[in-house]
Amino acid sequence: MADSDINKKTVLIADDDTKNRKLFRVALQSYGYKTIEAEDGKQCVKLAKETLPDLILMDIQMPVMDGITALKTLIADPATSKIPVIAVTSYAMKGDRERFLAKGFVDYIPKPIDIKKFKEVIGKYI
Ligand SMILES: [Mg+2]
Repeated sequence: MADSDINKKTVLIADDDTKNRKLFRVALQSYGYKTIEAEDGKQCVKLAKETLPDLILMDIQMPVMDGITALKTLIADPATSKIPVIAVTSYAMKGDRERFLAKGFVDYIPKPIDIKKFKEVIGKYI
């Protein structure tokens, strides 16, 4: 890690889609955040415990462990239960937002993301 990275806030990006991860990585780094990446929910939980990121962006549909199960696992562990987790998913049905918030996500960003709104939402939690 470069010295200039020490004071940066870290966002953990959990998404099985390489293009999505790249899009989030490029955007988040341009805002001055450090990023780490997980390809599935299980890897996300492992990395969250190891690195205690300041924020997690969680895709819902992922192989090995989906985003809902990963969130439940994070909430069940006192070490990771306080990390804010935002659901980022292409579900776009009425009531999605309420459904995700009820599960314990702090917010919900629908895909495809509106980049201006994306920055705004991230900024609320980090
Ligand atoms: Mg996915």
